Amino acid sequence: MPRRGQAVDNTKLYEILGVPTTATPQEITKAYRKLAMKYHPDKNPDTADKFKEISFAYEILNDEEKRQTYDQYGEEGLRDGGGGMDQDDLFSHIFGGGFPFGGARGGRGGPRPGQKRKGKDRGFAFGVTLEDVYKGKQTKFSHTKQALCGGCNGKGTNKVGGSMKCTHCEGSGVQTSLRHLGFGMVQQLQEKCRSCDGEGEVIRPKDRCKTCAGNKIKEETKMLDVYIDPGMRDGQRITFSGEGDQHPDIVPGDIILVLQVEAHPTFSREGNDLIMTKKIGLIEALTGVHFTVEHLDKRILLVNSQPGEIIRPGDVKSIEGEGMPTNGNIFEKGRLLIKFDIEFPADGSLKPATFAGLEQALGKAPTVQVSGEHEKVTLGKAEVNLGGNRKRGGRDAYEEDDEDDEEEGGPRGVSCQQQ
Ligand SMILES: [Zn+2]
Ligand SMILES: [Zn+2]
Repeated sequence: MPRRGQAVDNTKLYEILGVPTTATPQEITKAYRKLAMKYHPDKNPDTADKFKEISFAYEILNDEEKRQTYDQYGEEGLRDGGGGMDQDDLFSHIFGGGFPFGGARGGRGGPRPGQKRKGKDRGFAFGVTLEDVYKGKQTKFSHTKQALCGGCNGKGTNKVGGSMKCTHCEGSGVQTSLRHLGFGMVQQLQEKCRSCDGEGEVIRPKDRCKTCAGNKIKEETKMLDVYIDPGMRDGQRITFSGEGDQHPDIVPGDIILVLQVEAHPTFSREGNDLIMTKKIGLIEALTGVHFTVEHLDKRILLVNSQPGEIIRPGDVKSIEGEGMPTNGNIFEKGRLLIKFDIEFPADGSLKPATFAGLEQALGKAPTVQVSGEHEKVTLGKAEVNLGGNRKRGGRDAYEEDDEDDEEEGGPRGVSCQQQ
């Protein structure tokens, strides 16, 4: 552990999160959330390392005790005092790890005596359809991993006494060297023992297990049963504890599947609601809609508007209980929200002869009389977008106390018009 007064870098983690060293826990959490969202490997695998860095910084600075140690001794202090946790350990500790999918472990420090390290967790993207997460599904995932050799039970030899302690490192698998940093400071470096490749033991060639040639492990392909529960979400993780690579010196890590729900041609999802767009003609908007929707479980819904109901551009209607099941309770389902897109008749398609009938239904159009001097102008096409979004949805949202509105990114102005 660095001595008091020795210059240590105790600002880097703050810089990673972009906060001052005086930041409050709330500020730290806020900064972390923002960065984690931006760099999450589910969104962008290229930023996995950056995400790991951010997560590490947060893990330390969010813990009062660890933050104090860091402020005083820098990262070195955490390593020495914190039970030898390194960034990889912490990462797998918090997040189930695996996401950078790599990063050589067991480099610095090597195996700690009397304590098996947990192996690397491995994450895989697992594609499913919206139908799968609506109905639920049982499927399989096959992966190739390192497994203990069955021929020698992971010992590398079947001969009693066939494996001997490495004399170079005395069985620790680690060799230590000193690095002089100048000004009388010395850094102790630990590396994998080169004689035994960090194994801590050596096996004579003739005693080596024939199956694995003394490697103790071999490649094996394993099938895992995957249960997709109804209502599972995009990005949700399914963890298979201890299904990672095996090695005599480690506790196997986990296999983590990260669900990736494919886009569906008809439905999109917001929370437990399903959302679809339905194009209708003006006549249906005025006189009532009747259409069928094939649901995710192939059921056919016959959808009808209420008698006398008029559907206006931008209207969203709701069908209760036809959304996604809640994960954990398949009987509790969200809504099916239908956004209406109304197709108006094309210019010139209405014959003046039909106007009388329209006027009978909709009322006479106002006429205007100008007696004084005036100029006659005609409407032309305008290629502008005034104000962006349509205001109608916004107005509805104000009028109704719909809990959906508080959710950012949720369907804005989406509201249930039936009651
Ligand atoms: Zn073997
Ligand atoms: Zn050795």
